[in-house]
Amino acid sequence: MNEKVLVVEDNAQNMMVTTMALKTLGYMLFEAMDGEEALRVAEREKPDLVLLDLQIPKVEGLEVVKRMRKMPGLEKVPVIAVTAFAMKGDRDRAINAGCSGYLAKPFSIHELRRVVSEMLLDTAGKGG
Ligand code: MN
Repeated sequence: MNEKVLVVEDNAQNMMVTTMALKTLGYMLFEAMDGEEALRVAEREKPDLVLLDLQIPKVEGLEVVKRMRKMPGLEKVPVIAVTAFAMKGDRDRAINAGCSGYLAKPFSIHELRRVVSEMLLDTAGKGG
């Protein structure tokens, strides 16, 4: 089955690289370039995983994950926070806001694929 992955990223180049890297693994990709769009698409598509850039326009990433957690069917969807800053405390802030994992930019395509596939396997294993 083709798991749905929602990529939230406001940089067009990063969006292209990320979605290409995941499409070739067989996932069904959805894109959102700001926080409002992310919430709309998430509510409509009920993705199996969300890759969430925390620095995005309109509604910032941490607020997006907080709101997703209150939406029916999205309470437990794995959300991987992505941030360019990777400062001490970023990871904790992301996890506290409801993110399931964390990926610091810049990351390799290999690393991206590993984190995404591991988290989807993990969720499947828990029967979720
Ligand atoms: Mn950004």
